[in-house]
Amino acid sequence: MFRGDHAKLICDVSELSGLFHDAPSMESFLQKITAMVTHHMACEVCSIYLYYEDQNELVLKATKGLHPSSIGNVKLKIGEGLTGLAFKEKRPICEGQVRDNPNFRLFPGIGEEPFESFLAVPILRGAVEIGVMVIQSEKKNYFSPEDIQIFRAITSQLATTIETAKLLITLNDQRQVKPVLAADLKLVKGRCGSQGAVLAEAIVVDALLTDVEHLAKLARPVSEEDFYRAVEETENQLQQLQKQIETNLFDVSALIFTAQILMLKDKGFLDAIVKFIQNGVNPPQAVVHVVGEYVRKFGAITDSYLRDKIYDVKDVGRRLLENMTGLSHHHNDFENRVVIARELLPSDALKLFSQKVKGIILLSGGATSHVSILARSLNIPLVVADEPGLLSLAEGTRVLLDAVMGCIHINPSEDTIKKVFDREDLRKDLDHLKKFIRLRPHTKDGTPVQLMANINLLGDLKAACEFKADGIGLYRSEFPFLIRSSFPSEEEQCVIYRRLIEGMPGKETTLRTLDVGGDKILSYYDYGHEENPFLGLRSIRFSLKHQDVFITQIRAMLRAGHDARLRILFPMISSVDEFQRAKGIVQECIYGLEQEKQKVCHPPLGAMVELPSAVELIDEIADEADFLSIGTNDLVQYLLAVDRTNERVADLYLPHHPSVLRALKKVVDAAIKYGKDVSICGDIAADSKFLPFLLGIGIRSFSVDARYLPKLHQHLADIDLHQAEQSAAQLLKQSKVERTSQLMGLE
Ligand code: PEP
Ligand code: MG
Repeated sequence: MFRGDHAKLICDVSELSGLFHDAPSMESFLQKITAMVTHHMACEVCSIYLYYEDQNELVLKATKGLHPSSIGNVKLKIGEGLTGLAFKEKRPICEGQVRDNPNFRLFPGIGEEPFESFLAVPILRGAVEIGVMVIQSEKKNYFSPEDIQIFRAITSQLATTIETAKLLITLNDQRQVKPVLAADLKLVKGRCGSQGAVLAEAIVVDALLTDVEHLAKLARPVSEEDFYRAVEETENQLQQLQKQIETNLFDVSALIFTAQILMLKDKGFLDAIVKFIQNGVNPPQAVVHVVGEYVRKFGAITDSYLRDKIYDVKDVGRRLLENMTGLSHHHNDFENRVVIARELLPSDALKLFSQKVKGIILLSGGATSHVSILARSLNIPLVVADEPGLLSLAEGTRVLLDAVMGCIHINPSEDTIKKVFDREDLRKDLDHLKKFIRLRPHTKDGTPVQLMANINLLGDLKAACEFKADGIGLYRSEFPFLIRSSFPSEEEQCVIYRRLIEGMPGKETTLRTLDVGGDKILSYYDYGHEENPFLGLRSIRFSLKHQDVFITQIRAMLRAGHDARLRILFPMISSVDEFQRAKGIVQECIYGLEQEKQKVCHPPLGAMVELPSAVELIDEIADEADFLSIGTNDLVQYLLAVDRTNERVADLYLPHHPSVLRALKKVVDAAIKYGKDVSICGDIAADSKFLPFLLGIGIRSFSVDARYLPKLHQHLADIDLHQAEQSAAQLLKQSKVERTSQLMGLE
């Protein structure tokens, strides 16, 4: 018997780490612990109960010695039985003849009857209550005071590991209750990030990413050859996806599947799997094991860009398993699916696009976030809804995503489907809408207005041309930077800007310089930890700090626009000084290029007005800049101190707030006073409810997502300028949100 040898067990790390090998699931891992403990304590029973806060009960999760059917079925309230008591009072309870204790509770049918001695010890990590570990023996008065001490030491040694296992089991359990929650959810109201309506089956990607283990469990035994075949097939699939994206999205293609393809070429990765296989492990298990190792390794590094890599590793693992076993979790990736995710990176959105996703539901991110903006360019309907239950929807649940009203209908009725699609057909009736497009857009009374396009991807040019945009009012130059794995070179940028300019021949093209930071994180740049990224190294601050990056971009713009009507726009200008510094760098670049005998232009330089500090200094900024562009997405965020990507404060994000309306008026007045062009390029520029106000305060230039242009033409034709001026004056007198909301018809 080993009981004299306890001290060895406590220190024996190799024995503990052995527990992890060949434990295909967390449950079996706990099971191995119980076997180890009974062996060392020379007793017949060891059971692990885990505490579940939401139910406030202890659930038997592993046992050696009791009937296996008791697992998951024996549940104790806190204080119930000796196990519940040990947990409640946070102390060991030891009984030599357990039935003598009136608190003892016998569960019939689990095979507990023969056991006399009982020892329960709470599993604690500091103040954190994890559960209880119990050992039992057939012999009476079996456990000595020394045993209690040793068993406590073992339990505390295992506490953190058991806690992690508990966490993973909880995640798995949550996934298993999907159908119940799916039945509860009928309609979820969210916010529309990208318009459209689709009816499709749902797939929760957050679950999918952790479902690699699950797939391996389902897998039938396969051979080493199957594994090699799967590697080849996976690589072919990824190459194919990469090719598709290069054809469709030239500007942001940037080898977004490279990381996955590289992994399949990585000898370290493949050899590790093969080694397991050659040691007799079933190939799917071997893949799960090694993928798990990589995920852990990446996860342990704090660098933010590794979040992306973890996705890649899991994705490779998933594909390998699917190809090896023929067990496909989803047909053709995301084709015809509505993807539900907690959050997504812009690169994830592109991956989903290339995998033919039909719609996206995000739990966080905000309707004006940049993933939403990108989804618009990719024509993927997207709704943001802060409803965690959505993550529990069973795969394949039918979802009607009404990304116009911001509604998610779960298992919708035929009637609802018909209503939404009838409306959608009308909304998308291009022939009808195109009738409103005029070459020279104007209000009802004939006041000319400039309607330009916001471009995020080169692909947006098609709609911009089709809907007769007067030019490009805002090109968000950061998207090619966001998708790549390193800063694009001057040449690469020049090619993209050139294509953009050539896409709008003879028309004004406004290129905004890099606006990264906030919700637009460059995976290859180490920002360090920023508590408040929207108040951090964002936009022009980034460019002024990293002048090499800024200079490269400005040179590319100046070269690309040498013969065009180019304008350069600086985002997030907070002071005259900042504008002058940015302007100085452009002048130096012009000088440098001229010295190199390159063809360059001398573009007008504009400031984006999106900070309260810029509004306060607007006279001076208007005097200094050649033109102004109002970015209301950010202006609202910073003026009202409401994070534009935080769903929890989304109801406080109010573009019609009196402060916002007055700030807009102040900016337009300054532009008029200094004779400078002013346009508006935030999302409200495309909102028909705001249009009369914006016209009424003097805005004559709008830049909107190209797909909204026909609607804007249509609304414009209905507005009488004189009336708009009067209603704007009325709105500017208001001090309450409630009133502006009523007057603008937003209620
Ligand atoms: C804005 O802030 O309104 C804007 C147009 O810029 P972005 O949405 O890219 O921050
Ligand atoms: Mg902005």
